[in-house]
Amino acid sequence: MQYTDKELRQKINEYKQKLSVTIVAHFYQRDEVFEMGDITGDSLELAMRTQADDADYVVFCGVGFMGQSVKVLSPKKRVVMPKLACCAMATMIDGFMYENAVNILNEAGISNENILPITYINSNAEVKAKVAQMGGLVCTSSNAKKIITNALKEGKKILFVPDRCLGQNIANQMNLKSCVIGDGSDLKESDVICFNGFCSVHQLFSVDDINFYRKKFPGILIATHPECDPAICDASDFVGSTSQLIKFIKDLDPEQKVAVGTEFNLVNRLRPKNTYVLSSTKPECPTMNETTLQDLYDVLKSIDEGEPLNEIKVDEKTQKWAKIGLERMLAL
Ligand code: SF4
Repeated sequence: MQYTDKELRQKINEYKQKLSVTIVAHFYQRDEVFEMGDITGDSLELAMRTQADDADYVVFCGVGFMGQSVKVLSPKKRVVMPKLACCAMATMIDGFMYENAVNILNEAGISNENILPITYINSNAEVKAKVAQMGGLVCTSSNAKKIITNALKEGKKILFVPDRCLGQNIANQMNLKSCVIGDGSDLKESDVICFNGFCSVHQLFSVDDINFYRKKFPGILIATHPECDPAICDASDFVGSTSQLIKFIKDLDPEQKVAVGTEFNLVNRLRPKNTYVLSSTKPECPTMNETTLQDLYDVLKSIDEGEPLNEIKVDEKTQKWAKIGLERMLAL
């Protein structure tokens, strides 16, 4: 049966009263879905805050690796997703490709004992588990610098997966040598060796966009996410994770213009005026945008009927090691 958005909101609220559920929504969700969230935030914030939540079900509005992170940290919780959407970046690497990347380093003369792997949280549980099994850990865009700083104390090469942009941007900030596997560099010469993954949404921003805004509004500030290409971040006034961008923009003088290089839905609800999306296209994350109010209603209805849709499962061994990778990060 087709309902209007108003009817769907009402029915979702009725289920929220009736069922032991917590609706969790990532910042990049559509506005109408985001507004239904009991807990909202970035991927790490959501995984951590749901750990402390005591509802039987977590209904996760986001992409697959995020739902998995909740399940990994809180294995007893039942985690369902209104839509089993995939993050494009997370799908660029799996366990086999990770092992292949390690082999490439081995062939370049870097033994496993001299590799410290770090995976961005935007990776699936299998990759997090493999990284942890090699003594490595997880990072987010807000703590990547701290994690890399700490990791370097071990005197090893860092294998950074899957986001080449985040890895290279942090390396640049720290004056470290970095490269991307396959770019022709001598891997032994680099401190941070990055896997060749990227976010398709954050690749939409260009230096031309920055030049356009600087010319159109002299004095405008450019704020970007470190998943953007290093050339974009180098030309920006501020580079920060989602939470850091939100704080930076909220603290600006209301008259200060700012152009922001990150996902459209987030930018759109940041500030009522003087905030621009740093792109001539609409940089929406297509998979984040797949989740609709109808999907949210359908999944709540399925819980009520005792046959939950789209439940996240992670096998015991993967869960154990992925959790170790996440907990090593949280301990720092
Ligand atoms: Fe993945 Fe990029 Fe979408 Fe974030 S914006 S979920 S990194 S594809």
